[in-house]
Amino acid sequence: MTSNSKFTIGSWPGRLRSFFRRNSAEIPPADSTSDAWILKTTAFSSFADFTSYYKTMEEAFKSQQQHQMKLLTGADTFTAPGYCFPCARQVNFMIDYLYSGDETVAGLKIPNWRERVICPHCGLNNRIRASVQFLEETLGCTPQSAIYISEQTTPLYQHLHAKYANLVGSEYLGDRVRFGAVDTVSGHRNESITKLSFADESFDFVLSFDVFEHIPEYHKALQECFRVLKPGGRLLFTVPFRMDSETNLCRATMNEEGKVTHLMEPEYHGDPINDAGCLCFYHFGWQLLDELKNCGFTSAAAHVYWSDTLGYLGQHQSMFCAVKAL
Ligand SMILES: [Zn+2]
Repeated sequence: MTSNSKFTIGSWPGRLRSFFRRNSAEIPPADSTSDAWILKTTAFSSFADFTSYYKTMEEAFKSQQQHQMKLLTGADTFTAPGYCFPCARQVNFMIDYLYSGDETVAGLKIPNWRERVICPHCGLNNRIRASVQFLEETLGCTPQSAIYISEQTTPLYQHLHAKYANLVGSEYLGDRVRFGAVDTVSGHRNESITKLSFADESFDFVLSFDVFEHIPEYHKALQECFRVLKPGGRLLFTVPFRMDSETNLCRATMNEEGKVTHLMEPEYHGDPINDAGCLCFYHFGWQLLDELKNCGFTSAAAHVYWSDTLGYLGQHQSMFCAVKAL
C-alpha cells in the first residue's frame, strides 16, 4: 500500500482545482443528531482477535465492497457524499486514482481509498479525517490538551493549530538546525522522533501519521513517544499495516554509517519538505502491538473502521492507539 499523507491543496494539479470548482455546490445539511456521524471502530489487540472477527464479517465486507463499487463510474475523478467531521458539514468527497495500485475488480481499477476520499474544504483524506474524529470524539482531546504532532507543514497541522493552544508540531530538518529549535527561515521546529527534545511526561497526546515506517530505528521512536507522554497519555498513529501478517515486513535497512540496503523494490512516500520523497523501511504487522507494550504502554490496539456516511471507505482501514498507564 502506498501512503502519501503530506501533499497539500496547493500542490494539487490544476485539473483537481477545476474539478472542485465544478463540484462546489452545497449539499443540504443532514440531521446533526444522527448517530450515523459517530465514528464506530472495532478494536483488536492481536492477529488472533482479528482473524476470528474476520470470519464473522464476510457478509458485511461484501456489502461494503458493493457500496464502493457503485461509486466507480469509470471517470478519472468522482465524488462520494458524506459528512466531514473536521469541517462539521456535509461535503462531496473527491476520489481519484492517485497512489492506486494495479488492483482491479470486475474490470474496474480500485482507488487508494486510504489516501484519497478528500474533503474539498479542509483537504484532509480518509485516514486523517478518521484520526481527527477518533482523537476528539473517542479519546476526549480537549482544547486544553497538550499535544505533540510529528508534522508541521500539512493541512492537518493547520487544522489542529487553529483549535489547540497547547499543540506543538515539528518537522525533521536534520542537523542544519539544532534539535528543539525553530528554523528562522521556514518557522518550523526541528525534532528527531528518535531523540525528542521534550522533557519526560510533557504531553497528553502524541500524534504521528505515517512516520514510523520511515524510521529505521522505529523502536527508539516508540520509546521516545512513551517517554514524553504524561501518565494516562495516548499515542495515536497510522502506519502502512498488513492486517494478514503477524510480523513486520522490513523493506530496507540502514547501517550505522547511514548506508541503506534495499531488501525489496524501494518505496517512497510523499514528503512535504523533500521533493525526492521519503524511503519506506517497513510495512508493519501485528507484532507492532507487542513492541508498543514492550516500550511500557499498558495497552495497544488497532482500531478498524468503515463508514459510508463519514466517507471512511476501503476495507480494513486502521489506526492505532497505545495508552500509558496512569
Ligand atoms: Zn473537511
